[in-house]
Amino acid sequence: MLNTHIMELLIAGNDHRVLSANAEAWSLVNNNIFLPMEHFLSQDSREAFCARLSRGQDGWFPVFFQSAPDHPYLMRIEHPGEGDDASRMIRLVLIQSDQVISEFLLLNAQLSTMEAMLSLSEDVFFEYDPEARTLSLLNTAQSRYTAGVRPFDPFCEELRAQCAEAGLPELETFVAHLENGSPRFLVTIPQNLFNSDPSIPCTMIRGVLTRRRDDRRTVVGVIHPQRARGHEDPAQTYDPLTGLYTKDHITRLAVNRIDQLHAQGTTLAIVDIDYFKHANDAYGHQFGDQVLREAAAIMETTIGNRGIIGRIGGDEFLIVFYRISLEDLRAHLRSIKSLISSAFPDRGPRPDMPITVSIGAASYPGDAACYQDVFTIADYCLYLAKQKGRNRYVHYTTEKHPPLEEIRKIQAGGERNLIYGRDDLPLGDVIVQLQYLIRYGSTPPPLSSVLNEFAFRFQIPLVLLGGGSPIRPLLASGDQRSDGEAVWETVQPYLFQPLSFAQGAFHGMTIFNQIPQLNGDAAPFRDAMLSRDVQAAIFCPFTDRNGHIAVLVLASLHRPVFWNEQHLPYYRLMIDMLAQYVIGE
Ligand code: GH3
Ligand code: MG
Repeated sequence: MLNTHIMELLIAGNDHRVLSANAEAWSLVNNNIFLPMEHFLSQDSREAFCARLSRGQDGWFPVFFQSAPDHPYLMRIEHPGEGDDASRMIRLVLIQSDQVISEFLLLNAQLSTMEAMLSLSEDVFFEYDPEARTLSLLNTAQSRYTAGVRPFDPFCEELRAQCAEAGLPELETFVAHLENGSPRFLVTIPQNLFNSDPSIPCTMIRGVLTRRRDDRRTVVGVIHPQRARGHEDPAQTYDPLTGLYTKDHITRLAVNRIDQLHAQGTTLAIVDIDYFKHANDAYGHQFGDQVLREAAAIMETTIGNRGIIGRIGGDEFLIVFYRISLEDLRAHLRSIKSLISSAFPDRGPRPDMPITVSIGAASYPGDAACYQDVFTIADYCLYLAKQKGRNRYVHYTTEKHPPLEEIRKIQAGGERNLIYGRDDLPLGDVIVQLQYLIRYGSTPPPLSSVLNEFAFRFQIPLVLLGGGSPIRPLLASGDQRSDGEAVWETVQPYLFQPLSFAQGAFHGMTIFNQIPQLNGDAAPFRDAMLSRDVQAAIFCPFTDRNGHIAVLVLASLHRPVFWNEQHLPYYRLMIDMLAQYVIGE
């Protein structure tokens, strides 16, 4: 503590001449190397010094220097071991005690300010010590708990006794989290265990971090009274699995920082775990969860107070770095990368590979002028990091990367790059991402890209969109797209009539499997279809944004197909998305 006010002098063992000192101490002895140390002390101090020196006495004692009679110092003599006086050196340590006192008073003032600030928060802070099995409770003024160090088990008993049946499982989850040493958790007990305030319907207990104390890891957290109204709902703020901010919350904070506060140097880094699906598939979902928690803890610890972090997708995180230099950013991203890969060194896609992350980063205002654009660029950089082989970070630079306009185009159009991610991205996620782009994207992606993405993801050989007046084929996608026009001619007469011989219907879709096997009434239809070798089809008429009739046809030529019933709801959602467009002016 207070290292700046500690001074040192070395004096000779025989004649007490000053041999060496730091600058401030030199001035106390007038830079003199000929006279003994005691010469520079006041009368009283000289006697005390000499007595202690000759007795080999330890401990601090007050001294005054003649050169600074108004300033008291504390001195300690570090006596050397055995040996001959001439060759020994004696070390003197000096502290300017009035400085120490004023620093002490200042620290005290700061502490009371902090205590006052703490008391503004209603939360009770706790620290669980697994070895001592104790819980230290702090800031308990507004709660029913007693502050201090409490044995854990009786405390839990106390909580159980207050808790209604409905809240007991959650309470036990909390106990188990602490016993397992898991630092990040969020449990919400549907009852006020906090105090007797009737406006508090729930008590939230949240694990925040672990900290090292006397060689063991303790878990630090908060007990929070969750108010019904007017207060932030922690369930909306924190992700229960990782304890990080939720997507909504981190986005709000980032938007505020960039778009409202215009905080220069704010950097967004999007972190995505590589081949995470594999970790889930190979080692189980619980292991996957453990990876997410550990990665979250590593990132949170690494960024410390340089930023904030939230979970914005299954295995995707957003870090908002406050003002940070490029060099510092690189150092942080490197640490995150290497710490995560050393956490699970052999659980990657091959047994000798670690679990790794890819990161894309961009900054405000250097790279773009608003949150959405900075995010778009960071997201593009993440995509590049994945493309370049994963396990790396890409920070945007105008020299190396395309301009924002270009990135927007790349993300919005092209053959099939609306959605990035593994080719086996869960189909539900595909629909959600498409829906997101169409409803919330700055400009909705072109219809052709949507159809391409849809045909590819759902492996549909031919996707055909008809519209306009008179109705005509407008777009075709899928491997068999070149047959689109011909198929249109064949199916068009049947598109808008009820076909009693259809093999299925789902929310306005008419479904045909294995068309060659149709017979009876269906024979003319079957023959027409087979004239183009259409083996299976789904007709989906709908009305577009302007209320005009349109139709989506899914078909398979040359190959028999049994449409996957579980995909039908997705197709329905797809049609609802297409209905947001104006189709065929
Ligand atoms: P890539 O390298 O391209 O990122 O490949 P990936 O396998 O990580 O692909 P993707 O990002 O599409 O995979 C994310 C997976 O995360 C898919 C989903 O099953 C899984 N997931 C999403 N939320 C959770 C969760 O809360 N817990 C667990 N264990 N898995 C989750
Ligand atoms: Mg991933």
